[in-house]
Amino acid sequence: MKITEHIKNANGKPLFSFELLPPMKGQSIASIYNTIDALMEFKPPFIDVTYHREDYIYKQHPHGLLERIAYRKRPGTVAICAAIMNKYKVDAVPHLICGGFTKEETENALIDLHFLGIDNVLVLRGDARKADKDFVPTPGGHAYATDLLQHVKNMNGGKYLHEDIENSECTDFCVGVAGYPEKHFEAPNFETDFRYLKKKVEMGADFIVTQMFFDNSKYKAFVERCRADGINVPIIPGLKPITSAKQLITLPKIFHIDIPVELSEAIGACKTAQQVKEVGIEWMVQQCKELVEFGAPVLHFYTMGNPAPTRQIVEQVF
Ligand code: FAD
Repeated sequence: MKITEHIKNANGKPLFSFELLPPMKGQSIASIYNTIDALMEFKPPFIDVTYHREDYIYKQHPHGLLERIAYRKRPGTVAICAAIMNKYKVDAVPHLICGGFTKEETENALIDLHFLGIDNVLVLRGDARKADKDFVPTPGGHAYATDLLQHVKNMNGGKYLHEDIENSECTDFCVGVAGYPEKHFEAPNFETDFRYLKKKVEMGADFIVTQMFFDNSKYKAFVERCRADGINVPIIPGLKPITSAKQLITLPKIFHIDIPVELSEAIGACKTAQQVKEVGIEWMVQQCKELVEFGAPVLHFYTMGNPAPTRQIVEQVF
């Protein structure tokens, strides 16, 4: 079922969902199942699975030739989505990224998802490879989420890359896009970034999932700004509890978000790792309660392979 229908059917009651990372290549799917098993009792109507672009290794050949080889560390998004749908009978939402795919490969991936009965995709530009400083589009691929979104929308309308398809046969994906209450780090200012978000919605994005944030006033201001500008699609807050003191440095560095002084000081004052976890969970419980009151349609958790804190939070909120 489409995420927009899940939200509509909930009649204003907030839903719970979460995001999973495919395990590193060579590991089993058990870690995915363990995370889902720990959270299934809270009845998520959908579960997201991230997509990760290839990175590079360099192989030294005899006679000095240095070969650059692209490889994926976390493949498997499509297969994991199929396994989730089959085993748990909930909607799996694959993230689809521009980087690493030609347009033809993107279309093939979307056709596979359609065959699998997947109704929703979250379309993203994707992160830069570690080996590159900035995002480098794949030759023959899409450069921005807007381009990928247009591709999905074309397919939904029967316009595939090299042929037209009967309307009854074509895809009908409900499409989500990313939104940044604290602006995307590459954008020169919030306004420019906001215009591109608006463009994504005008092009037909059905819902927005936000980057994580620790200050609800940022989410509220973002939603209010969207509504004032005629963006009326559901805006799903992305949430991640702090679980270690190190994250005070790593989360702002990786995700370009602020941690409120009150939270960073409370964590800084903790004497043990256990205390840090308790503070992180308590903060997120309060955030969630406020977000529910504010009318957030879904509380969407970035589990990052660790379901325990999400479980503790959801037990106190729902
Ligand atoms: P875009 O919307 O393309 O925006 C990228 C930048 O370009 C922004 O600064 C924007 O202002 C600007 N811009 C947008 N459109 C245009 C345009 N048409 N012309 C010029 N400039 C433009 N990364 C992964 O690799 N895999 C994942 O699974 C993944 N999941 C995510 C889930 C969520 C909810 C979020 C918030 C992020 C996720 N990311 C993921 C990270 C994301 O890929 C990065 O933040 C990336 O840098 C931007 O992606 P985007 O889709 O927001 O890009």
